[in-house]
Amino acid sequence: MVHVKLEDIWKIYKEKKKTVEVLRGINLEIEKRDFVVILGPSGEGKTTILRIIAGLLKQDKGHVYLRGKLADDMSPKDRNIAMVPQNYAVYPFMNVFDNIAFPLKIEHVPKEEIRKRVLEVAEMLKIDNLLDRKPSQLSGGQLQRVAIARALVKNADIILMDEPLSNLDAQVRVLAREELKELQQKLGPTIIYVTHDQAEALSLATKLALLHDGKIQAYGDPLELYRQPNNSWVASFLGNPAMNLIRSEIVGEKIEFNGQAIPLPEKFKGIIKSNKVILGIRPENIEISQDGDIEGVVELVEELGSFTITHVRVGNDIIKVIDKAFIKREKGERVKLKFDYSRIELFDAESGVNLMIKNG
Ligand code: ADP
Ligand code: MG
Repeated sequence: MVHVKLEDIWKIYKEKKKTVEVLRGINLEIEKRDFVVILGPSGEGKTTILRIIAGLLKQDKGHVYLRGKLADDMSPKDRNIAMVPQNYAVYPFMNVFDNIAFPLKIEHVPKEEIRKRVLEVAEMLKIDNLLDRKPSQLSGGQLQRVAIARALVKNADIILMDEPLSNLDAQVRVLAREELKELQQKLGPTIIYVTHDQAEALSLATKLALLHDGKIQAYGDPLELYRQPNNSWVASFLGNPAMNLIRSEIVGEKIEFNGQAIPLPEKFKGIIKSNKVILGIRPENIEISQDGDIEGVVELVEELGSFTITHVRVGNDIIKVIDKAFIKREKGERVKLKFDYSRIELFDAESGVNLMIKNG
């Protein structure tokens, strides 16, 4: 069942004489119990989307549906949505207990019931020993738990999270991700989580939405989006380093670029109509090998311990290769590249659309 639906949502901010179209037709269907992560660089409108879903901000165009019902005129209170805001927004003068209890107090839930529910979620998040402390006496990780507890205490079946882990140290963050995943599986709310952090998005999402230029550029299974990006923007955004994108031309049964060529992989034969394409291949799907068919010169070597990223110049392009074996390479060294043909993607040179998805 579609639990949250955004239909052609537009948001335009007007500042003095400037108008900024932040959201330009957002469409998104979120199923019950999905853990949807919206990934996008800072300033792309992630917080704006969450505030519109929560009813804290009104869209200029389009509709929000919650649990199958049109929600455009519903007040935030009636939407039964909990939100963990970007900066946690805990009240510094209240102790942890009162902070968690706050959403229930304003809804006039009886005192005994409040006590029971606060203790329940505090225990679940392992902060039941901190209930008397003030926020200033907590670590970043503890504060984040308080903010999540306050969202959970309402028993809302839709929870919005605005970069909730971004203030934590790298180590704590990985643990917090795991806990968050477990918590969602146990309690089963629908979570809409926004972040600019790719690793976080790939590891948390059951469905990943990529936000760019006011639109959702791609939406689906995170690994599928990674393996077969639907357009060249997605390819250039996902992955670290991202997919190599090389302007190429299809000539007969060959893909040519920079005066060199590789055979056109079987899967594309008879499908590709345009001859100006962008060849996409991930750095982990290229090997530096004697029997490679592309020649290049090593331009830069990034030694990162467990693997090495080698930047190889091929004509006008720099092709990045991830070497897992530890091989010492020198700048200026001549090498041959061997592409894993089965992992090549081709994008239309103009529209950037993945030609396999478009025609396949
Ligand atoms: P994100 O959460 O992805 O960083 P935001 O949704 O906070 O992005 O903001 C998107 C863009 O809209 C930013 O460029 C921001 O400066 C602008 N913006 C956000 N709120 C307002 C506002 N109230 N008035 C004018 N511009 C705003
Ligand atoms: Mg934000």
